[in-house]
Parts: sequence; structure tokens; C-alpha cells
Amino acid sequence: MGLMVSADIWSRYLESLKKRISEQYFPYIEGMTCRNMSETRWDVCVPDKSSLSIVETRLTALLEDVLHDVLRSQGLNDDVKLSFSLSGVSDKSSAMPERSSGVLPLSGASMSVCDVSTVEAHKAAFQIGQTAFGSSSTHVEDSSDMEPFVTSEEVRIKSKLKQKFSFDNFVMGGSNQEALSAAKAVAGSPGSAFNPLFIYGGAGLGKTHLMQAIGNEILDTTRLRVRYITSEEFVNQCMNAMSGIRQMEVFRQSMRDNIDVLLLDDVQFIAGKDRTQMEFFNTFNDLIANGKQIVLTSDRDPHDISDIDERMRSRFCSNGWFDIQLPDFETRLAILRKKSRAEGIILPDDVAQYMASKVATNVRELEGCLKRIIGSSQAHHEAITIALAQRLIEPFYQTRQILLNVEAIVSCVCTYFGISHEEIMGRSRKKELSYPRKIAMYLARTHTSLSLPDLGRAFGGRDHTTVLSAVQAIVNDLKTDNELQLNIKTIEKKLFEKR
Ligand code: ADP
Ligand code: MG
Repeated sequence: MGLMVSADIWSRYLESLKKRISEQYFPYIEGMTCRNMSETRWDVCVPDKSSLSIVETRLTALLEDVLHDVLRSQGLNDDVKLSFSLSGVSDKSSAMPERSSGVLPLSGASMSVCDVSTVEAHKAAFQIGQTAFGSSSTHVEDSSDMEPFVTSEEVRIKSKLKQKFSFDNFVMGGSNQEALSAAKAVAGSPGSAFNPLFIYGGAGLGKTHLMQAIGNEILDTTRLRVRYITSEEFVNQCMNAMSGIRQMEVFRQSMRDNIDVLLLDDVQFIAGKDRTQMEFFNTFNDLIANGKQIVLTSDRDPHDISDIDERMRSRFCSNGWFDIQLPDFETRLAILRKKSRAEGIILPDDVAQYMASKVATNVRELEGCLKRIIGSSQAHHEAITIALAQRLIEPFYQTRQILLNVEAIVSCVCTYFGISHEEIMGRSRKKELSYPRKIAMYLARTHTSLSLPDLGRAFGGRDHTTVLSAVQAIVNDLKTDNELQLNIKTIEKKLFEKR
């Protein structure tokens, strides 16, 4: 790579960065210079330790992602890594030669050698709020396509994201580990990690939280435009727009233009609504074709969403497809500790353990119970004890659906019909075995948060479609079959009595 070419590429790179990175990180990259470019690695210098640490811990994925885009757009090999080091004053002369070839560092300010105080000064300048990307810049010719300066708070409000739904506030556990790391990968390189990313799981298990955490992280680290919308809103807006051609255009634009990252919550809601579904499918294809990131959530596995276009289902299942399960006891404990700490409350260990063992439905309810306990203790100046927790939780839970495990359900069904565990798990299609088997699958689907593939595994390694058709058959028969209704009611009674 010749000197001019590399100088040119570096300046293109900086310009692309300006468009992607959030202004709060601007000071950190302003001081960046490039010491060396090879086919596989660019050695980038930053002026001080704090920049180095921020760049290395928060920005590397993004910086590399932008770099790869730029290299690709120039027809160059994009398999290039960035390596960061401190420039130090003595490195001044060896810093990127662009400056002598007329290409300035990012803002046009003399930043190739700067210390912490300079960075702080720039940070302060940006916080006070100057024109986006620094009006002093001399090499930003295409400032016309940049949005006018808006504060990060305004951007967040526009995106409809809640700030509290962050990665920092999300507790990791076995139940959500894979979904969480996929979400972080997407936040680190939107449009290229998993696209679309599809997160599914039962109500109150953290799907919206995780989805918004992606959006918040992208807003914090880039200048990408994020839009969060529930499918219900999408459907309503789309239906309203359908009343006129002009409105439809406006709606389409609002969903496609000015969006880099679309977060669509509870996509199962779109199922069965044919015209809206087509509209969504077109939006979806359009955004993906333009390299925009899409994140979707659903309360069920893509295979279980009935009434959706098969092409759409297969796009949902294309690569990034992750579930969130009910957190285990330890994770529930960790969630309680984190949430109470956030409220400034010290939750005694025994109370936390008691709550984590009692409230095993979902995180939203766990959080609700915690709030009730804290509220009551504050209102009545009462210490938080197991007795208080018991008083507040028990009555609530007596009438609640209780989450069971598959083994409990299977053994209850076996006892009820007088068949063995081997028989219910076996392959025989005899009615006296297949009937209880279907009932057990239906009950497991209703009273656990397991996904269909997991249920298939729990029922002797069956395919998820087998479980699905069993559940559907029972749901259907329940409408008219009194004997079936009675059987299920009786088994459920026995199941809940045991607890
Ligand atoms: P869903 O969209 O799956 O119905 P939400 O994302 O709305 O669920 O989560 C419900 C509540 O539980 C939210 O307040 C969220 O912050 C909290 N929550 C869920 N999972 C976690 C977790 N792993 N760590 C911390 N809070 C969580
Ligand atoms: Mg939700």
C-alpha cells in the first residue's frame, strides 16, 4: 500500500468513523494516529492511557467493523485487525504521515499528541454541545448528510429505549448466556454478527430488556440510528396507513429511512395479519439488503408461530436464533441482589433465598415481589424478614400458576393412567399410550417454560414438530371433548396439590 493510498484510506476511515461513532467517544478517537498499515494489521496509536483503555475495552469491535466496511468498499482485503498502543511524545515524528500530506486527524484539531487533560477538555466541549463532529473540521466536505446536533438524551428518547435496560443491569445465567452473548455480539458489530437476531422465550424472562440493551449499547458507542417498536405498534401504524396511499409511503419511509437498527418486539403478534405481515416482510428484506441490523423477539420459537409466511419463518431461523429460559435458583438470587442493590436496599440472604425458591415463574414476577416487599417495609417501617416476605408472597402465589418440571408432570400422568415411564416415553402408537403421552406433552407445554425442541428431548428425543402436533391436537380436542377436559383438570389438580 503506497503512502498516498494509505493516507487516503486513513482519512476515509476517519470519516466513516465520524458517522458511526457516538459523540461521547469522539475525543478518544480524535487523538488516533496510524503508525503502520500492513495487509493484515493496522497499528494505531492513541495519546493516553484512558483513551487506550476505552478504545480497547469498548470500541475495538466497532472500530474494526467500520474498518472492514471501508476496506471492502475500496475493494481491498478486509481481513485486517487493529492493534492499539500509546503514542507517547517521542512517537510524534513517526505518527501517521497523513498530516504532512494534508489530511488532518478527525476534528482538524491538533490532536496527534495529546494528554489526558486535552481529552478531558474535548469531552467537556462535546458535552456542552457543539455542532456534531466539530465545526472546525476542514476535511468534512459532506456535512450535508449529517443530522443536526442532538443530545444523546434526545436520541435515546427518539429511539424509544429505556436506559435502565442495559447490559450492565442484565444478570447472566445458564438460562440466558447464549442469548446474551449473541446480543453483545450484535451490539458490537451491528449488521454483521447475527442478522436478524431472533430472541425468544416465555413472558417476563428478559427479552425486551436484552433487545433494548443492544439498542442502548449501540446508541452509546455509535452514531447509528436505533428504532424500537413493538409489533403491536407496527401493526396499528400499518393498518392506519393502509387507509391511504400517501400514508403508506410515509409509513414505509418511517420504517426504512433513518433507521440503522430496527428492534421489533413480540413479533408473534404479526402472525395471522396477512397484509401487515407482507408489509413487515418487505421492510425486513429491505433493511437487511441495505446492511441494517434487525433484532426480533417472540414469546415462542419461530417454528411455533402459526400463521406466518414460511419464507419469513425461514429468515427468522436463518442464523441467529436464541432462547431465554427461566433462570435457575442461583441466577434468581443474583437478580434479586442486583435489583435490591439498585434500590439501595440490603436484602437479607435468607429472605433472598426464600423469594428465589418461591417465585419461580419469571423475572418480572420476581421483581414485582421484591418491589412489594420493599414498598411494604418502607411504608410500615418494618424490617425485611422472611415473615414479611411470606405474608406478602404466599397468598399471591396460592392462586398463581406454578411452574412445574417435566418429570413431575410425566410421573403424575403415568400414575393417573396406570402406565410406566418407559411406556409413555416409548414409540408405541397404541391409543392407551399415545393419549396419555399427548396429554403429558400438552401439560408440559402449558406449565413449564421449556421450548418445543427441549420438550422433544425431554420426551425421549422426539422431534419438536411431534410435540407441537400433540399439543395442537389436545388444544383442539379440549374445545369439545368433555372427558379430556375432566382428565386434564384432575391431573392438574393432583399436580398442584403436591406442591
Ligand atoms: P419479556 O420481554 O421477556 O417479557 P422483560 O425484558 O420485560 O421480559 O423483563 C421483565 C423484567 O425482568 C424487566 O424488568 C427486566 O429488567 C427483568 N429481567 C429479566 N431478566 C433479567 C436478567 N437476567 N437480569 C436482570 N433483570 C432481568
Ligand atoms: Mg417483552
